[in-house]
Amino acid sequence: MSALPAVLIIEDEPAIADTLLYALRTEGFAPEWCATGGAGLAALGNKSFALVVLDVGLPDGTGFEFCRRIRARSAVPVIFLTARNTEIDRVLGLELGGDDYLVKPFSPRELTARVKAILRRTQNGAAPAAPTKPSEEPAAEFAIDAERCVIRFRGVALELTRYEFRLLKVLAERPGRVFSRDQLMEAVWEDPGASLDRTVDAHVKTVRAKLRAIAPGADPIQTHRGLGYSLREAS
Ligand code: CA
Repeated sequence: MSALPAVLIIEDEPAIADTLLYALRTEGFAPEWCATGGAGLAALGNKSFALVVLDVGLPDGTGFEFCRRIRARSAVPVIFLTARNTEIDRVLGLELGGDDYLVKPFSPRELTARVKAILRRTQNGAAPAAPTKPSEEPAAEFAIDAERCVIRFRGVALELTRYEFRLLKVLAERPGRVFSRDQLMEAVWEDPGASLDRTVDAHVKTVRAKLRAIAPGADPIQTHRGLGYSLREAS
């Protein structure tokens, strides 16, 4: 394996591609650029990449179509770039096997942080991309549908923001385990350096309110003073 992880950028706008190439090189990756989906598929056939950054609007098809074709032969992680910030794009993209997405305009720093976060996840032995069951027993009153980014609490689907979803997912997958604020920042936010500790507290607060809206009196998220948060284990 080469020392630098190879990242394939499939993006038809040269200015965006240049920015991405520069940002990824600066962060220690070996990026390559293809301007069409067809060229991207050919590149993937010739060489193995650690990750693909895939534009949704390409001249020879949509990124979603190309993702499907990539998925037919490879589990390489895919980050979509989209100009449309709609839930439909997001769900469709993730159902097709995308691992994450960024809405244009985004900062190069945001992109490299996402790339690193995904590679950390996939290189820690977890199966890349394939929607798999959590490795540990999740909390019984929670049902996590990672493919659709939905968590049900006592059978009711919660309306969560992106970070609330990730936060609750981390806690609910390992009931009883205490996570420090730093660990939650690291696991949930792509760019922890730019966020504040208070961010975790604020999100825990809004998630709690949403859980109480479903089951008044229920407070499955426990605060451990000076330590962090955990999800109450089933008794
Ligand atoms: Ca485009």
